[in-house]
Amino acid sequence: MPLSNRNQPYIWVTWLTKLLTGADSCEWATWFKSHFTFEQESTGFDIEGWERLHTEYMQITQEEIYNTYGPEPVVTVEGENSFKVEGKSGIIIAGKPDIILRHQSENSVYDVKTGNPQPFHKTQLLIYMWALPQLPEFKGVTFDGVLAYKDHMVHIPASDLTGQFIGQLIGLIKRVGSAQEALKVSSSFECGNCKITINDCPEKKTSEMMKAMSGDF
Ligand code: SF4
Repeated sequence: MPLSNRNQPYIWVTWLTKLLTGADSCEWATWFKSHFTFEQESTGFDIEGWERLHTEYMQITQEEIYNTYGPEPVVTVEGENSFKVEGKSGIIIAGKPDIILRHQSENSVYDVKTGNPQPFHKTQLLIYMWALPQLPEFKGVTFDGVLAYKDHMVHIPASDLTGQFIGQLIGLIKRVGSAQEALKVSSSFECGNCKITINDCPEKKTSEMMKAMSGDF
């Protein structure tokens, strides 16, 4: 059973990225997380190891920024960049970009990645590029994006934030923020990476459930 209902639908940016790229299909998982707090199941993800690596890569990226721009740019990091955007429906979108850089006419939002490049990394940045200018602090500001990997950076121009992308994003936000339950798609891969327990999602597939014996070979 969920621990409690949220007062308003609350969607963390990273819950949307894999759905938007098609890497994930179960919109119900994000619908559930946006409406309830719940007992979470461990997925085996090494959060401490990730935090160590992320801190190291953040330092490398900030050094590169200072080497490129000198001491002048305004750089804010992590907790300083926490934001919430509330729609007129009451749905809240929340996120925390790793680095925001403002230097003369250049405005960039960075996300520091510890793993290999994935299509949904760009999607995360595009959501930040869409959300940030809606905040009073950044009204009228256009952001570029930068994906910072250990050994290279990928620049995402502001022009990549298209009307088509925004339309898909708004459609997804409305579906997973709606009072009506979103579509549930159960697969052993997604369920294996999902923190929702079988108590809250009886359709959760385990790897055992997907095994079979065949006499054909
Ligand atoms: S356990 Fe599987 S079916 Fe249930 S919400 Fe998570 S991904 Fe969807």
